[in-house]
Amino acid sequence: MKPLNPRQIWEAALGNLELQVSRPSYATWLKDTVGLTIEDNRMVVGVPSPFVAQWLERRMSSLIENTISQITNQTTGVEFRVVQRHSPGPQSESVRSPQEQRSPHQGNPAEPAKLNPRYTLESFVVGESNQLAYAGALAVASKTGSAYNPLFLYGGVGLGKTHLLHGIGHASVNKGLRCLYVSSEQFTNEFISSIQMKKTNEFRDKYRSVDVLLIDDIQFLRGKEAIQESFFHTFNDLHNSNHQIVIACDRPSAELSPLEDRLRSRFQWGLSADIQMPDRETRRAILEVKASSIGVGVPDAVLDLISEHFLSSVRDLEGALNRVCAYADLTSQPLCLDLAYRSLGDLLTTKKSLVPTPELVIDQVSSFYNVDKRILISKRRDRKIALARQVAIYLLRELVQMPLKEIGSLMGNRDHTTIRHAWSKTLLDRGRDADLATQIAIIRAAIEALLQDS
Ligand code: ADP
Ligand code: MG
Repeated sequence: MKPLNPRQIWEAALGNLELQVSRPSYATWLKDTVGLTIEDNRMVVGVPSPFVAQWLERRMSSLIENTISQITNQTTGVEFRVVQRHSPGPQSESVRSPQEQRSPHQGNPAEPAKLNPRYTLESFVVGESNQLAYAGALAVASKTGSAYNPLFLYGGVGLGKTHLLHGIGHASVNKGLRCLYVSSEQFTNEFISSIQMKKTNEFRDKYRSVDVLLIDDIQFLRGKEAIQESFFHTFNDLHNSNHQIVIACDRPSAELSPLEDRLRSRFQWGLSADIQMPDRETRRAILEVKASSIGVGVPDAVLDLISEHFLSSVRDLEGALNRVCAYADLTSQPLCLDLAYRSLGDLLTTKKSLVPTPELVIDQVSSFYNVDKRILISKRRDRKIALARQVAIYLLRELVQMPLKEIGSLMGNRDHTTIRHAWSKTLLDRGRDADLATQIAIIRAAIEALLQDS
């Protein structure tokens, strides 16, 4: 066994843990941790605050110990130690624009853009599913503040929105522009503390003095009127002075209904681009890029296996690749298909069974609305039948991820543009109509319950 470096072990453990815990809990408790040392068979993990240390200790230590022990091949304990934030690591590397280097203080607390060096426009793999978003990002990066302002990127989690924001950030910094990347949570926290500390002017100046403002996860502003108000003013100022704004959101713009109307209408000035899960070929291309960036030769069969099984997010896709590579590396075994099956075992089966069949979706929709399956796919347009049909199309797209054409032939040989229209209409209606949202949630829960049981 080669000598084990605590940092690598912890990174491998994180790769594993990311697949075992929910995404919010990973982001809240594990993301900002770092492997420090190994003392007396105990892994010492640096965490950002005593609160996180306590929580991990109470709620996750046995899961973490098991995970590390599997990697080190011996019983290994864990201890959490509070360390300064931003310990060195690729995730927290910061980039300064040339302008900031020249004049670090201009009477405002300008921060350098914190950009992940791996998230560049060059390392982003383009396919049909993210083409428009990528084109928008390129346009913005080359002609900041004119064509598409704001650029609004939306789509499910783990599909590359943050990657594109950072990519635009890098390109802007390289052009000497002042660029600020913030999550909406951070924007909110800074706003609140600026009020508490009576520093609202500084807050305003900071945000109004950038050339490119990249705001991530705007959905966090839901229901926070005061923040939206402040965001709106900042937004208007920047927009009026032709500064570029790029916004990412976990949901389609039409679903942002609780956001203030005027804020929303501003979102629609520029370009809205939707990102979907990449198709199989693009997933494969992404894996190839990731594998070569970590410098590991991964056999084609393994890339095929992973790209066929991980359908819900690019993050999961990457997580699976990392897991296979870490497993091979740490057990000093050759990376082959068999090893991939062994290291991904449980994930392969669970992921698979969680995608319902089209028949199951149609069954559940027709029994919920009490509309016979044959009528569901017929041409009848009564209100109730049309609604059930729309919901079926929506769920086939969302849960089964069927291509529009296939949905069309399944639903009584309808044209794919008709299907797209039904899908996007349901998406819109769902954001505006709480009853419809509830109906969809109930059907979805029923489908998921059946899948769990099977
Ligand atoms: P989101 O912000 O949409 O939740 P991220 O931008 O964090 O998703 O992406 C999750 C992971 O997937 C990142 O590591 C990112 O680099 C990777 N990723 C997503 N899409 C692509 C792509 N098209 N090409 C390369 N990597 C991608
Ligand atoms: Mg993101």
